Amino acid sequence: MTKPRLLVLSLGGTITMVPTAEGGIAPKLGAAELVASVPALGEIAQIEARSPFRLPSPSLEPGQLVAVAREINRGFAEGFDGAVVIQGTDTIEESAFLLDLLVPGDRPVVITGAMRGADAPGADGPANLLSAAIVAASPEARGLGTLAVLNYDIHAARFVQKSHTALPSAFLSPLVGPLGAVVERRAQIHVRPARSPAHDAEAGEPAPVALLKWGMGEDGRMLRSVAGLGYAGLVIEGMGAGHVPAAVAPILGEVARAIPVILASRAMTGPVFTSTYGYPGGEIDLIGRGLVPAGHLSGLKARILLGLALRGGGGREAALSAFAPYQ
Ligand code: ASP
Repeated sequence: MTKPRLLVLSLGGTITMVPTAEGGIAPKLGAAELVASVPALGEIAQIEARSPFRLPSPSLEPGQLVAVAREINRGFAEGFDGAVVIQGTDTIEESAFLLDLLVPGDRPVVITGAMRGADAPGADGPANLLSAAIVAASPEARGLGTLAVLNYDIHAARFVQKSHTALPSAFLSPLVGPLGAVVERRAQIHVRPARSPAHDAEAGEPAPVALLKWGMGEDGRMLRSVAGLGYAGLVIEGMGAGHVPAAVAPILGEVARAIPVILASRAMTGPVFTSTYGYPGGEIDLIGRGLVPAGHLSGLKARILLGLALRGGGGREAALSAFAPYQ
């Protein structure tokens, strides 16, 4: 039987990192070396390995992920059955959601990385790469959009979050849990969420969006500057279900008249409210002043979605329609 064809793209990250002469670890290995280090991959799929970037993931740019999405879309048009993206874990939750929004269709895209360097004892990279390939080659994973696979867990891009700085079990989907797991070299999927609506990978890079997390006593003095800094939009991580101090509400309202402002929560997970709290600075007040609720998206994922929604120069209407499916 012919094995599925997988496109494996490496962007860098700890999974590619080895010690340097200057001290510490840095990205060095490419996709071909990573694939060659896991012989069992040959039993799973025919693999084409490419290394578009060798970066630590904090230095990845959204525009580079748009280029990766386009490469995957071209690869699928040429007949690849699935794709694996290897990158640093620090920004997997953002990259995964970008790819989920920009790669339409049923074929699986699986993003993976590692918490331990390539030559560390107990390196998790090889097992994660093998699991990612198993999922990407699996008919079970079709129609689920982009998935993040680490530590045998299979997460949906929309929900996955890095939740620990060190542990191989760092990835969680706090709102819904993982969709499944890789067990006995098989992707076992237990939950099948609806796909996120697609955005056009050919429409350019995401527009720049600022993200601010609200702290107790923060008076918002930096807010009036935000609209003048060239950002197309702003995401606020408010307190609890989407709240800020009373005095900050009118300033946020002013900003929302200049650029779209999305209201997310600084809480680990859960939807932003829309109709419960009636006090000044509560969600009813903020939405009344023009803020758009992020629904169940985290601040980081809301920032990605808003950046894509505002590419055409759209304003609040574009933001409202982009966030409607997530309420
Ligand atoms: N700092 C690394 C990166 O994101 C962490 C990792 O890959 O786990 O590139």
